[in-house]
Amino acid sequence: MAKIRMVDLSKQYDNQDRKTIDRFNLNIEEQEFVVIVGPSGCGKSTMLRMLAGLESISDGELWMNDKVVNDIPPKDRDIALVFQNYALYPHLSVFDNIAFGLKIRKTPKDQIKKQVEKTADILGLTDYLKHKPKSLSGGQKQRVALGRAIVRNANIFLMDEPLSNLDAKLRTHMREEIMQLHRRLKATTIYVTHDQTEAMTMASKIVILKDGYIQQIGTPKEVYNQP
Ligand code: ADP
Ligand code: ADP
Repeated sequence: MAKIRMVDLSKQYDNQDRKTIDRFNLNIEEQEFVVIVGPSGCGKSTMLRMLAGLESISDGELWMNDKVVNDIPPKDRDIALVFQNYALYPHLSVFDNIAFGLKIRKTPKDQIKKQVEKTADILGLTDYLKHKPKSLSGGQKQRVALGRAIVRNANIFLMDEPLSNLDAKLRTHMREEIMQLHRRLKATTIYVTHDQTEAMTMASKIVILKDGYIQQIGTPKEVYNQP
C-alpha cells in the first residue's frame, strides 16, 4: 500500500528555456489507478522518470508514504517500472529477466526461485521460463515486462505506454490483464498513455497534462462525459 504526494514538483532541464514540469501538485491515495494523458512532449515521461528517481527533481517535494524521496535512488524506492518497449534483456532467459531486479538486490537464490515461479504462474509464463525473449510473442514479452515489475512486490507501479507496441486486439486483452493484476496486487499505479480508451476503462482518476501543468483532473466520467 502506498500513498504519493507531489508538492509543487518542478523540472527544469538545463538546455530548455522553460520548465518542463511547472509546480505540479497531486495527491494519490492507496490503490488508486491514475492515468496521465496528454499530447506528445507535454511532460508525461519526465513526470514518470522523476517519480522513478531516474530524473532529478529541480524543485518541490515528492512524498511516498510519509517520506520525502527526492534524493532516494531508484532501487531504494518502493516502485516497479513497465515501459512501452519492454526493455527485456535479449541474452537472458525469461526466468533471468524476471529475476533481474531481485538479483541486483542480492535476494537469496531459493527466494528468487520461489518468487519468479509464483510470478510466472500469475502471468501464464510457467512453460516459457527457459525461453529467450526473441522466441516470444508481443503479448508474452509484455507479460515478462510485467513480471519483472510484480516479482518485487513493489507497492507502486509506474507504466509508460506499456501497450502501445501491441496490436489492437492484444491491447484490449492486456488492458484487462493489467486491471486484473491491479485488483489482485492492489499496488498504487500511475499509467501514462495517449489512448483515451485506456484512460476511460482503467483509471480511477485521470490527469490531463498540458505543457507541464494539470489542465484537468477527475474520474473518467467527469473528464469525458461532461454535459
Ligand atoms: P512526453 O512524455 O509527454 O512526450 P517528455 O517528458 O518526453 O514528454 O518531454 C517533455 C519536454 O521535455 C519536451 O519538450 C522534451 O523535449 C523535453 N525533454 C525531455 N527529456 C529531456 C532531456 N533529457 N533533456 C532536455 N529536455 C528534455
Ligand atoms: P517519449 O516521448 O516516448 O519519451 P522521445 O523520443 O520524446 O520519447 O524521447 C526519447 C528520449 O530522449 C527520452 O529519454 C527523453 O528524455 C530524451 N529527450 C527527449 N527530448 C529531449 C531533448 N530536447 N533533449 C535531450 N533529450 C531529450
